[in-house]
Amino acid sequence: MTPDTQVLLDRRARLLGPNVSLFYDDPVHVVRGQGVWLWDSEGNKYLDCYNNVPHVGHCHPRVVEAIATQAATLNTHTRYLHEGILDYVEALTSTFDAPLKTAILTCTGSEANDIALRMAQAVTGNTGVIATDHTYHGNTMAVSQLSRTNPPPGGYWDNMAFVPAPDSYRPLGGASGSAHALAFAAAVQEQIDALAERGHKLACLIICPYFANEGFPTLEAGWLSPAIEIVRRAGGIVIADEVQPGFGRLGTDFWGHQKAGFQPDVVTLGKPMANGHPVGGVVTSPEIMAAFRERFRYFNTFGGNPVSAAAALATLKVVQDEGLMDNARVIGDYARDGLRSLAARHHCIGDVRGSGLFFGAEMVLDRTQKTPATAFARRVANTMRQRGILLNFLGIHYNTLKIRPPLPFSRENADQLIETLDRVLSETPLAP
Ligand code: PMP
Repeated sequence: MTPDTQVLLDRRARLLGPNVSLFYDDPVHVVRGQGVWLWDSEGNKYLDCYNNVPHVGHCHPRVVEAIATQAATLNTHTRYLHEGILDYVEALTSTFDAPLKTAILTCTGSEANDIALRMAQAVTGNTGVIATDHTYHGNTMAVSQLSRTNPPPGGYWDNMAFVPAPDSYRPLGGASGSAHALAFAAAVQEQIDALAERGHKLACLIICPYFANEGFPTLEAGWLSPAIEIVRRAGGIVIADEVQPGFGRLGTDFWGHQKAGFQPDVVTLGKPMANGHPVGGVVTSPEIMAAFRERFRYFNTFGGNPVSAAAALATLKVVQDEGLMDNARVIGDYARDGLRSLAARHHCIGDVRGSGLFFGAEMVLDRTQKTPATAFARRVANTMRQRGILLNFLGIHYNTLKIRPPLPFSRENADQLIETLDRVLSETPLAP
């Protein structure tokens, strides 16, 4: 750690308080970004393999230009008439299947999920909410109730219920495929019954369709159908949190729910939406939107303001015009082949999975018992950072390397990632 890093850490602790979340044991002091690259204050260059906020690449000129031009023309409260938000919502909803054709724009994914929960209550008249037990949907008081991994002070409200996060490497009930899907659906039914006993009929199941924070298990299209059928039969709706897998990242489909093969009632969006400018959103049907608008008086001072709408529209156009979803598919497949070839030599790699430019590898101490190599995964991520490659680790056991670069990631970038990982896996002792 450089003296400069320590000075900034001390200043942060003094000004922002303790425990402010940072990546890496030796945090990176970034000063500049371009495309897939970042530079620190000492002039070191890093390949960004993790940051899904600069979706179309750091400081993409079209997004920079859109923000600068609109900021120089007008930016204001959203309670005036302006075409910006309409042009964006038109372009955005054209990527969704009917009836998902209306939207609310927010500033964060947390707000979007908070609204989605209220939509579920408004349209069903019910209050029960089911999420997985290893997820994150944001940080408002309501949404933080969904984080089983970070219990809220005062405990969970009795309208919240949790089902085991899907794990394709260690499937619930022991078998994969449809048996795993039915075991998940049975867990959902169990929680619907438990909620009913506590006086709550089901309002919604909220899930990331790619189970990103859960470690992105490999699940075939239609895997969620039995669970969704049970939710709908109980009078609930399905909320798809697309904050991580959306906007073409998965390579095969523009949205995670399209890849997963189901139609949600409400979709929530965030992180990559405006390439770093704070934009989130909720997309739903006109019926659900009307139920929400009739039940709640809602406005958002900044959400969808002219600059935010311009940034979001430019980002969406770049994804489409530059064929970035196709790039995600081609380069993602190539990089995963590279990871599989590493797995042939490095026995710490228990499972390689992912789609498009959202992929990774689960680290284990032994392949027979599949014992999670959690401390090892952390050491690998920290050593990669020292070698100029930024990635991270997560999953149910926090032992899965998570790779999620900006979409203009190239074959050469993938080669550099795999070659560096090869060396770091060879040098890092599996046991501490
Ligand atoms: N949903 C998911 C799946 C997320 O990963 C996150 C942020 N990591 C959020 C919601 C919250 O988004 P924000 O930080 O913009 O509030």
